[in-house]
Amino acid sequence: MMPSSLKIVKYPHPALRQKAQPVQAITDEVRRVAARMFELMYEHEGLGLAAPQVALPWQLIVLNFTADPDKRDNELVAINPVIVESKGSVVGREGCLSFPGLYQNVRRAKTVKVQAYDLQGRLYEMVCHDLPARVWQHEIDHLHGILFIDRMGSLGRERSARELQQFIAEFEADKKKGLISADLVAQL
Ligand SMILES: [Zn+2]
Repeated sequence: MMPSSLKIVKYPHPALRQKAQPVQAITDEVRRVAARMFELMYEHEGLGLAAPQVALPWQLIVLNFTADPDKRDNELVAINPVIVESKGSVVGREGCLSFPGLYQNVRRAKTVKVQAYDLQGRLYEMVCHDLPARVWQHEIDHLHGILFIDRMGSLGRERSARELQQFIAEFEADKKKGLISADLVAQL
């Protein structure tokens, strides 16, 4: 697998519904994939990107809550992350790089405590509130095949219906044109 060939897949690509597996060893390949994921995340002005969004069923997330490629100090790599505690509840606007242009209100915990491994294999723990907490929850959901449309209220889902139909139509058209390879997922 060539990390440089990785691309963000869009809904309803089946990779987005796969359950990601824990990363067993931090190899050069994992490091190269993480670097490529940062590239893609910045290119699309995201705050976070999960490996299933590049069709890799790995428990790997990259984040930068500033979305600023010049602020590398803020980069976080999360391997096998888990939310160990969540508190409160808050509704906020949310988007997803796999649903370009779609934004809806989603209710999330206000505060989360997360544990994950970094690229050096060190376990770290982090408490976040509000937007960073939202990003963590959104990205960790991706590792379980859960998408933000699953977390929307009925009103949000109703308001998204037309866009979702459009994503499905585009996906089917790209598939017919051979632009979407179903083996992308098996490319491990
Ligand atoms: Zn997303």
